[in-house]
Amino acid sequence: MIEEKVTTKIKSLSAVTINRISAGEVIERPAAVVKELVENSLDAGATEVTVKIESGGKNLILVCDNGCGMSKEDLNLAVERHTTSKLLDDNLLDIKYFGFRGEALPSIASVSRMTIKTCMGSEEGWELSIVGGNKQNIHPIAPNKGTIIEIRDLFFATPARLKFLRSEKTENQHIIDLLKKISAANPNVRFSLLTDQKLVLDCPVTELINPLYDRVSQIFNKNFIENSIEVSKTHQDMTLKGYVSLPTYNKGNSNDYYIYVNNRPVKDKLILTAIRIAYHDFLSRDRYPATVLFLDINSELVDVNVHPSKTEVRFRDPQTVRSFIIHSLKEALQNDGGRTSSTIAEDTLNAIKTEEIKFAPTQKHQYQSRSSSYSSIPKGLGSQQTLSNIFQSFSKPVVRGFEEKDTPALEEDNNYPLGAARCQLHETYIISQTPESIIIVDQHAAHERLMYEKLKDQIENNGIEKQRLLIPEIVEVNESTMEKLTSIKDQLKSLGLTIDQCTPTSIIVREVPHLLTNCNSKKLAQDIIDDIESYEESSNLKELVNHTLGTYACHHSIRSGRKMDVGEMNQLLREMEITAHSGQCNHGRPTYIELKLKDIEKLFGRS
Ligand code: ADP
Ligand code: MG
Repeated sequence: MIEEKVTTKIKSLSAVTINRISAGEVIERPAAVVKELVENSLDAGATEVTVKIESGGKNLILVCDNGCGMSKEDLNLAVERHTTSKLLDDNLLDIKYFGFRGEALPSIASVSRMTIKTCMGSEEGWELSIVGGNKQNIHPIAPNKGTIIEIRDLFFATPARLKFLRSEKTENQHIIDLLKKISAANPNVRFSLLTDQKLVLDCPVTELINPLYDRVSQIFNKNFIENSIEVSKTHQDMTLKGYVSLPTYNKGNSNDYYIYVNNRPVKDKLILTAIRIAYHDFLSRDRYPATVLFLDINSELVDVNVHPSKTEVRFRDPQTVRSFIIHSLKEALQNDGGRTSSTIAEDTLNAIKTEEIKFAPTQKHQYQSRSSSYSSIPKGLGSQQTLSNIFQSFSKPVVRGFEEKDTPALEEDNNYPLGAARCQLHETYIISQTPESIIIVDQHAAHERLMYEKLKDQIENNGIEKQRLLIPEIVEVNESTMEKLTSIKDQLKSLGLTIDQCTPTSIIVREVPHLLTNCNSKKLAQDIIDDIESYEESSNLKELVNHTLGTYACHHSIRSGRKMDVGEMNQLLREMEITAHSGQCNHGRPTYIELKLKDIEKLFGRS
């Protein structure tokens, strides 16, 4: 039975079949067609590219550019397989154009109805149609410099592929994302995108000093650029440029990672990991920053020819690239990352505004209904206590020694960025004031950041100061963990944790960091052991160290709920002002928010 299937005669595949196979690899969805065509326009030196889409790209994809155009002969050749004008001297290591395989046009043409209109300048232009891979007659058209490529009925010739397309909305979204990525990398080119006759993206070229800044503001919501740090760093043959968000401006997914290698958008694991590591101190593992980063590297040191759709690259010296990126980002965050995101205060104000609108109609029982919706009212307050009572206690500072003579005291503190502490609320929040704003500090988050920075400082200087436990703690561990623990015992000791094996399945904790003597040392050791277990795959102890310090700080700093007097509060504010990264705790949550008086006035309709 099986023998029957064996064919004895070998035949060459037809050109159309070869192109369709290749289309299967390179053209997985309409966005991939857009990518190839727009990259061709850029390679042709276009300064204006317009893309029109209908029905998610299934009915129509049209790309119009003002690039160099093609001659009649080149147009004829362009749609043949493996013909390109871009690879000089057959040098695959020195690729300056996006294209070089000469595959895109013939592949797309083999699975659709394609029409190309092209013209090199003032003389006549040429039009060529290809239906399912079969060339029609070429004929002259009126001159109009540039190229228009129209793709109708994509995948009509390969119905199986057609079935795999997602909804029009999803396909449109892929196209929008793609064009945003390409346009960020080409701020000197005007891009516009119309889907079903609607203009969804328009990025004109601006005349200003920093084209990248303008382009990024055009394609992202403007909050990103306002809440980001500029990166610009060079090392040997590499340059890293762009914008990364402040740690407090973070997201639940990595969709806003815009990464480019030699101006090509890539999804490179090495770079993604390097970004994660750089933010490690500032963000919890499930939060992501937004980035628009351009890595420029000598083209001899990177291979972009790894994957047909070319979103992966291969570096000749990955380690150097990785540490360069980590270093550059850390330095940028170090210099400027302490700011907290301005969107937080804005969001807060908007939330309050919404509440206002919601309750405005019930004029009569306004206070009653509002207070019952206030989730943060202390549980001890009786139901008859209304918001006005709360406001009364708000306006009466609970701090000692401030009631009568607060004005002179405030004068002294006027110069401090975080202002003068006025009171503590819910034993969690410190309220302070500056001449133009009210500041709310989350005491727990602030303590956490200060503790973390202190520990890091100690490590960098003389090592973490240790405290011997009066009664050593015994912690149970399993055997494989024991092996790991024994192998990193010395490193743990330098982290302030001295342990010894007690039995084959238990350890004895003898010393803990001095700063943490007041906490539960058994729980502390347990947490760190958990970390060591979950870090199994990682060989980089430094990452573990940072994470462990974060765990120390998060679980063991002074928790909210502690009463502080005004002196202690001010001391905390002053410490925050001189501590790096004090704008957020090491999970990327803000440690304080600033409400500008002018915004508060708006809430009350005073401006
Ligand atoms: P590649 O881009 O890899 O060279 P393509 O199949 O995408 O292969 O394109 C084949 C050739 O057609 C290109 O090398 C270029 O000379 C020409 N071409 C394609 N699109 C354009 C365009 N928009 N403007 C001018 N020339 C183009
Ligand atoms: Mg191409």
